[in-house]
Amino acid sequence: MIERRKTTTAVAGTIHIGFDHPVVIQSMTKVLTTDVDLCIRQIRRLTKAGCDLVRIAVPTRADTRAFARIVQRTGLSLVADIHFSPERAIEAIEGGAAKIRLNPGNIKKKQDIERIIDCAKMHGIAIRIGVNEASIRDLRDDVGQDRRVDLMVQELGGYVAMFEQKSFTNLVLSVKSADTVRTIEANRAVAGAFGYPIHIGLTHAGLPDDATVPSAVALGTLLAEGIGDTIRVSVAGDPVKEVQIAQQILQSVGLYESRSPTLIVCPTCGRCQIDVVKLARQVRRVLKEIHKPVRVAVMGCVVNGPGEAADADVAVCAAKGKGFLYRNGKKIAVIPEEQLIQALRNQLDAF
Ligand code: SF4
Repeated sequence: MIERRKTTTAVAGTIHIGFDHPVVIQSMTKVLTTDVDLCIRQIRRLTKAGCDLVRIAVPTRADTRAFARIVQRTGLSLVADIHFSPERAIEAIEGGAAKIRLNPGNIKKKQDIERIIDCAKMHGIAIRIGVNEASIRDLRDDVGQDRRVDLMVQELGGYVAMFEQKSFTNLVLSVKSADTVRTIEANRAVAGAFGYPIHIGLTHAGLPDDATVPSAVALGTLLAEGIGDTIRVSVAGDPVKEVQIAQQILQSVGLYESRSPTLIVCPTCGRCQIDVVKLARQVRRVLKEIHKPVRVAVMGCVVNGPGEAADADVAVCAAKGKGFLYRNGKKIAVIPEEQLIQALRNQLDAF
């Protein structure tokens, strides 16, 4: 059994990263952000495949506008990927990002980074400070492997201090390299130096066939050592593949099981008003597509059922042609019974 390193918890909307939360699987959309419908379709495919947190590139003002529409339409906690532009960061935060990924090294002015921190703080969002080997200052071809790791961690430390000076601690850290061994070394150093959650990944890992083994070696090694609170496998092509590889890596180190949903079904009694077994089978089919540690209850009556299912995240029950949906013991919808399964799906999508 792997003992995960204890960290602070970063909160990105509904997603918690670090401490004892399950390792969060991330991926990125790979279509134009401005093609909102296409982007949303890709996000839906990713979440259905088990991706917890989707990151979206927002290189232009048109992209941050589209990002805000995507947030609104999906209702999901989404991450905006920022490079170079403080304006894009602020627009994305104001547009509803739950988290942004920032490489402060490519934001030239310190005041601009501080502006982004202030804005993120005001909106209560998380920031990942991402340092890539390719973008670190002072890096020359002749700088040896150990020194490169030192430089990455040193640079990260400078940024962490800048955020902490402004009392911003809703942080996730990452240091990435395209080199497997350096990725392991650098993340070990970060884990030793800071108490924040760590995002692990290998940059530019390649085509799926070439990327799987290096990613599994780097990320599997770190996870086995208890390092890594959120994971992104980078491969060229369909991002769903990234999610599938990430799941396999987590599974192989025993860190995936905790993400399965739990189905609770009332044993039924004389108060039962519906065919519980039939409804439970339908719910079980829905849960097969879910990769979240969510507790779903199917109850047989609307009088005692909700109370008995109070510790479930979502509960369903039906009576006299009506479907009832509960969240954490509170009724949130009464709908025609035939719409109950779709309503449950919608709830779980937004979970
Ligand atoms: S939920 Fe209702 S039907 Fe099911 S066991 Fe409890 S009281 Fe009986």
